[in-house]
Order: sequence, then C-alpha cells, then structure tokens
Amino acid sequence: MSTFQNVLDVMDWDQISQAIASKTIHDVDRALGRRSQLDVDDFMALVSPAATTRLEAMASLSRELTMRRFGKTAQLYIPIYLSNECTNQCVYCGFSAENEIARKTLTANEMIQEAELVRSWGFEHVLLVTGEDARQVDVDYLVSAVELLRPIFAQISLEVQPLSVADYQRLLVAGATAVYVYQETYHQSVYKNYHKKGKKAIFDWRLETPDRLGEAGMRKIGLGCLIGLEDWRTDSVFLATHLRYLEKKYWRTRFSVAFPRLRPHTGEFEPKNPQSEKELAQLIWAYRIFDPDLELSLSTRESADFRDSILGLGITHLSAASRTDPGGYTTTDHSLEQFSINDDRSANEVAQAIRAKGYEPVWKDWDAVLES
Ligand code: SF4
Repeated sequence: MSTFQNVLDVMDWDQISQAIASKTIHDVDRALGRRSQLDVDDFMALVSPAATTRLEAMASLSRELTMRRFGKTAQLYIPIYLSNECTNQCVYCGFSAENEIARKTLTANEMIQEAELVRSWGFEHVLLVTGEDARQVDVDYLVSAVELLRPIFAQISLEVQPLSVADYQRLLVAGATAVYVYQETYHQSVYKNYHKKGKKAIFDWRLETPDRLGEAGMRKIGLGCLIGLEDWRTDSVFLATHLRYLEKKYWRTRFSVAFPRLRPHTGEFEPKNPQSEKELAQLIWAYRIFDPDLELSLSTRESADFRDSILGLGITHLSAASRTDPGGYTTTDHSLEQFSINDDRSANEVAQAIRAKGYEPVWKDWDAVLES
C-alpha cells in the first residue's frame, strides 16, 4: 500500500526550514484571514518567526475556533503505565534498555488496583502506556489489559509499541478506541542518532504506523513530535503534512496532536533545540487555526501555571494527577518513573482550576460524551 513514506520521500528538511524562515508578516496575515481550510503553506507561516508579532491575533482566533467546536470544556484523562520494560535505546528516555533501572510489568491484579484507584478520582478515560518489549508485553497482554479494564472505563487509549494492522484490529475488537504513536522527529537522516537500537530505530516502521492504524479502522490516531530533539518549527510542518495526508486518506478517523517537551529523566541527554513556553503557545495556536476539529492534548510535562493559562485557547485534552511509573498510583516509591512531571496537582485540584476559569471538566473522551 502507499504510505506517508511516499510523501516524505519528496520532502527536504533543509528546504522546508528555509521556506519557514522566509515567511513574512504578509504570509501570516493571509493565513489568519483565510476563510477556507488552511493548507500546509499557511501553517508554515503561522509557525514561522514572522508570526511572533501576531501572537495576540493567533490566540484570539484559536480561542474562537476552539469555543465554536468544543465549547467551554476540558476533557481529562490519566495515563496508567503497565510496564517499563523496553528493548529500544532512545537516548532521551529513562526506560532505555541501556539504563540499569528496576523493570516491572503489571499483573492483572495490579492493573485492577491502579484502575480502581484512578476511577475513584473520577477518570473515565485512561491511556495505557508501556515501553517497547514484545517479549514481556505482546499483543496478547495488551488485548487482555483492554478487556480487563473495559468494564471500569468509558474510554481506553493506548501508547504502546507500533503493531501490525491485524494486531490493531484485535485491540479495536477488545475495546480500544485510540492509539497514540509519536514519530519523535521527522528528520530522517538524524533519527538514528536518537534511536540507537531496537525496532524503534527503524524509521519507516514507525512512520507508517498511522497508516496501519487507519487501515485497521482505529477511531482516533494521535500524532506528535518530541519537542527538544530537532527544530520544532520544521518538525511541526512535517507533522502537519502527515496529518493532512492521513485526514484525506482515513476520513472516518479522528486525529489528535500532543506537545511533549523533553523533561528530566534517567540518563544524560540534554535537548539541543529547547522550546520556550511562548513558542509552545504559538505552536498550539497554529495547529488550532490549521485544523479547527483537531484534538489538542497537553500533559503534566507542563507546569500548572502554563496549563491553566492556555486553557480555552486551543487545548481540548489534559492529563492530570499522572504518574509515569508502572504501579505508580498505588505505591509511594517512584524510582521506576520514565520522567518527572511538572504539574503534580491532584485530579480534584485540576478540575477545580478548570471550573475557576469558567470551563467544565469532562471525564470522558469527547466522542463518548457525544454518544452518551
Ligand atoms: S521512548 Fe519508548 S521506546 Fe524509547 S526507550 Fe523509552 S519506552 Fe523505550
């Protein structure tokens, strides 16, 4: 089948970086005034340095579009880490196979304990997260986990190793509704510098995962770049191109974009292209203006102040009360965590902060709310 790799083959990283840098304020104003759907060239203008003088206008348009499509709501979800086993070596991750940390994969009983605790805090949408070790966590394990937790939650999403079309269909039948798979960076020639060993080092296998998810009929596909690796502006233009390609090809599927910025973790990797909060806000607003229907998700990697201040301006989904270690909700020993979070408020505190801004916290995924 043709995949996004065919599109990527004719894209050049340096040319796109130059095209972004050459955008003018005129290009930005044209994108902001567009009445019809924006194209990737408009998106380039919105993420360009030229757009930094139009941030107020971008925020205002992003707020208006978000309000029109999603109303005054913020959907809350919580990750449950099922396993920190991993055979890959990603230089930026605490779970990397080369890190000598204790490893753990939850049993069925441990999963239920974690699930019942977070359900008691109000969550009905859970994101199951694992490292990538198909010997410890294979598709049978994942299908069993979804079947086990389905009676507890209204929505189950997954962030696990890339799988085949047939495996995704099994997960769909078991009750999974969304899968998030982040390319980390679209800069193909340096991808291997960050992903040294293991299946994740195979760029194409990961890149073509959203195509396999679309083929399998997954209801929602989540995309993202790990911010801090390569230039965020150029990576985001590749991601926007990927998104448009997927939206056209798998038009029944919903899409989501997340904004993971690198956080402290076990290991010595330092981000070479950090992004400021102001630049992150610009990126969020650019995606909202580019695609008013897109779900935009912000995790507890970001501070409470930033998450509160961006509410209503584009973001639709927020994680809350997160732990990034398997068994992290039912233990006080967090030595197994993937990275340290930046917003450590409880679920109730996040919900109160949302209400204080005049928004309604919603504990189920948006689709489930529409169906109920
Ligand atoms: S980012 Fe994922 S695949 Fe890479 S080392 Fe961490 S858990 Fe493993």
